[in-house]
Amino acid sequence: MNATQPSDGVLVDRYGRVARDLRVSLTDKCNLRCTYCMPAEGLPWLAGPELLGDDEIIRLIRVAVRQLGVTEVRFTGGEPLIRPGLAGIVAAVAALEPRPRISLTTNGIGLDRLAPTLRAAGLDRVNVSLDTLDPERFARLTRRPRHADVLAGLAGAAAAGLTPVKVNAVLMRGVNDDEAPALLRFALAHGYELRFIEQMPLDAQHGWDRAAMVTADEILAALVGGFALTADPTERGPAPAETWLVDGGPARVGVIASVTRPFCGDCDRTRLTADGQVRACLFATEESDLRGALRAGADDDELARRWRAAMWGKRAGHGIDDPTFLQPARPMSAIGG
Ligand code: SAM
Ligand code: SF4
Repeated sequence: MNATQPSDGVLVDRYGRVARDLRVSLTDKCNLRCTYCMPAEGLPWLAGPELLGDDEIIRLIRVAVRQLGVTEVRFTGGEPLIRPGLAGIVAAVAALEPRPRISLTTNGIGLDRLAPTLRAAGLDRVNVSLDTLDPERFARLTRRPRHADVLAGLAGAAAAGLTPVKVNAVLMRGVNDDEAPALLRFALAHGYELRFIEQMPLDAQHGWDRAAMVTADEILAALVGGFALTADPTERGPAPAETWLVDGGPARVGVIASVTRPFCGDCDRTRLTADGQVRACLFATEESDLRGALRAGADDDELARRWRAAMWGKRAGHGIDDPTFLQPARPMSAIGG
């Protein structure tokens, strides 16, 4: 562990981890209401003036890329496709030198229409969330009858070349935990790369239950009956997903086991919320306000200094298994997964 924070350079923390992957939440609003994420009635949304404007977002990303060594920018939300300025933001980020890789995590609604524009703006690839192949289940799980829109969004992303298209699936006991093999067959048939995500205690309703959570071990056990899974020879690095080759490859399947197989020691992520707060971790209980500094006239060096200070304080791990674990006040939809 290091005692002294470097005064310039990359986003390093006291455990020596360097954050190169920036997740930017563009809005806390969403057109779905996934039960593991939001209550049916939605949430008290951020007010307009609280949100960063497009120019403010672009400026902070520029600071991250030019001064702080960020090489990967992932847009998320809420639902990032509902942000009107999205294509312009992507284009501005794609024009940065050095150009970061640019991706988007989305529920896919409207992506069939937007994919060509986003691709032309410079978006490299997408992750689309899809937890079930059954339209009625989808409607229960997300509280909106939009299954066909998500399938169209996936197809549109692939057709526009936003590849590899990755599919994120969260399994819930008694809801969709019988679908692991079917989701993998679907992904293989379409050339998408499927990743299961263990459900995390980040829902606004605080309904997460460790005992009810479907674990990575259970997901893998459900898959091995139908598929030969072998170790993926590609180096995992800081990627959150542990991956396996399916039936000898090249297709792969991944599991993001944040709860049962935490990967905090290799984490390279830093997060910016839609209202301009830096978070060192999904589960952080502290945030660092860049919006206030930016609007008070801070120059780029000062913004970079504050961002470095925020990341220096990153904790060693999320501590979900610790009896003293406290769920962060900000829910997943307002952090960005
Ligand atoms: N709306 C977009 C979407 O759904 O892809 C982007 C934001 S969403 C918060 C990002 C990812 O977080 C999605 O893949 C979603 O399934 C996942 N997610 C949301 N709540 C979660 C939870 N409690 N545990 C695990 N994953 C969660
Ligand atoms: Fe919306 Fe994504 Fe949360 Fe579902 S997981 S409610 S799509 S933000």
